[in-house]
Amino acid sequence: MNAVGIDLGGTSAKLAVVDSEGKILQHRKSIWDPRETVDDILRPLIAALKDILSPTKEGGSDVAGIGLSTPGYLNDDRTGIIYAANLQMLNGFPLVKTLEEETGMSVVMDTDVNAGGLAEALLGAGKNFNRVLFISIGTGLGGSLIVDRKLVRHTRHGIGHLGHIILQPDGEICGCGNRGCIETLVSAQGIHRIAEKILPHYPASILHEYSRSGKKIEALDIYLAARDKSDTAAVEILQQEGAWLGLALYNFCAICAPEVIVVSGGLSEAGNFILDKAREVVNERLNPDLYGKVEIKQSHFGVNAGVVGNTVNVMQLVRKNTT
Ligand SMILES: [Zn+2]
Repeated sequence: MNAVGIDLGGTSAKLAVVDSEGKILQHRKSIWDPRETVDDILRPLIAALKDILSPTKEGGSDVAGIGLSTPGYLNDDRTGIIYAANLQMLNGFPLVKTLEEETGMSVVMDTDVNAGGLAEALLGAGKNFNRVLFISIGTGLGGSLIVDRKLVRHTRHGIGHLGHIILQPDGEICGCGNRGCIETLVSAQGIHRIAEKILPHYPASILHEYSRSGKKIEALDIYLAARDKSDTAAVEILQQEGAWLGLALYNFCAICAPEVIVVSGGLSEAGNFILDKAREVVNERLNPDLYGKVEIKQSHFGVNAGVVGNTVNVMQLVRKNTT
C-alpha cells in the first residue's frame, strides 16, 4: 500500500508517493509566488498531483489516499486553514473538499508539525520509543507529541504553543507580542541574533564575509564554518544556540515527559555541534527519578518528514477503517 503526501509551505509544496515503510517512490515540487491567488497555487498543485497519481508512474497504481499538511491553524474538522500567516489566500478555503473532488480520492489534513512527528515517531528516529516529542525549528519553533503511535491532540489539533514558552522575560519581542519566547532564541532569527552579538568579538572570523557581501548568515553557513574551518566564532555561536535549545528541551521534558526528542528543521542541520550542547544542558537538569533517560536525536527524514508523515496519517486511517 502507498499513499501520497503533500507538504504545503509558504511558497512551495512538496508532493511524493510513499510506501508503507516510508520510502519515497516518486516526488514533485510545486512553486508559486506568495502574492498569487488560490487558483495560481492550486492549478499547478493539482496538475502535479494528477501526474504523480498516474498508474504508469512508480507506485501510482496502489495509492490508498492523500495526506496534506499545512502551517497555521486548521479548522475543527481539519478540512481547511483558519489562519496561516504565510498562506493567507488559503485562509477559509475548502482545501480537502477541492482536492477530493479533483482526484476522486480521500484526503486527510493535518498540521505540518503533526505530520513530521508521525513520520519520525513511526518510521524514523523515534520508532523504538513510546513517547516521542517532535520539535521543528525554522522561522519559528513548534512541536508535536506522539504517544503509543498516536498523535496527542488537546489544543487546536496539537499540544499547545511550545515556541511561546518564555525563557528570557527581558528578551527580544516575539511575533506573539511577548518578550523572550523560546522562538526568539531558538530559530533562524534566534541564531542570527546570537551571531550578531558574538561576531564583533571575533574580527578574524570568516563569517564576516557574509555581512560584507550583504548575505544573511544561515545556520548551515555557521555549521560549515565550524566544521570545515574550525572557526572559533562559529563554534561559539552554535554552542550558545545549543545551550538555549537545551534549556527549551528541558522545559518540554517537564511538560511532556518524552522518552525521545527528535529535532528537525534548519538548526538541526548543524547536527551535533548544537545537539551535543543541548544534551549536556538537559542532562545537567534532568532528574532521572522523574523522567528516566531522555534521548535527543536528529531527524531521520529531514526535509521529507512532512510528506512522509502525511502518508503515515493516511495509512493509519485506512487500517483503522478496515479493522
Ligand atoms: Zn511568543
